[in-house]
Amino acid sequence: MTLVDRVVFPGSFDPLTNGHVDIILRGLKVFDQAEVTVGVLCNPDKKYLFTGDERVALIKEVFSEYGQRVRVKSFSGLLADFLRQEDVKVIVRGLRAISDFEYENQIALMNRYLSEVETCFLVASEENSFISSSLVKQVAGLHGDVARFVPPIVAQALERKFR
Ligand code: ADP
Repeated sequence: MTLVDRVVFPGSFDPLTNGHVDIILRGLKVFDQAEVTVGVLCNPDKKYLFTGDERVALIKEVFSEYGQRVRVKSFSGLLADFLRQEDVKVIVRGLRAISDFEYENQIALMNRYLSEVETCFLVASEENSFISSSLVKQVAGLHGDVARFVPPIVAQALERKFR
């Protein structure tokens, strides 16, 4: 067995939620010899609430105490190309429900064809399984309280966006 020394957790993180944080923390435990790179997708055709730089900065701040073990990088284009560039063979993704599985399964197979990487799924913790970035944005946009769903600095950033 080869030692896994790098994994990538890719996503939009628009914005980072407690569900993402949980997957990153558990990824660090499962791959305890590895560096976890959070790959922040910046697709020019997609509309995001937070810019790529803002999303990256928020994640960096939340994980600032983890030093080299958590790196945050933005990427655009094919994930397979980003993985090649980073020399990474393992993707970590979170699974909330069966509905996530159908999409995730397709993407995982495609990524394996494109770059021979394995996708490792971590099942969402029960208390986070209903949290999604899009729902958090909807609630924050209507001035609902999102403190329970996102790290404090993300809650503050959402408040600034919707003020
Ligand atoms: P994408 O647009 O690529 O789905 P997201 O930022 O929404 O990007 O999600 C990135 C990853 O985090 C995905 O694997 C997703 O299933 C997972 N994820 C999102 N929300 C949660 C959550 N509440 N608990 C666990 N995993 C989650």
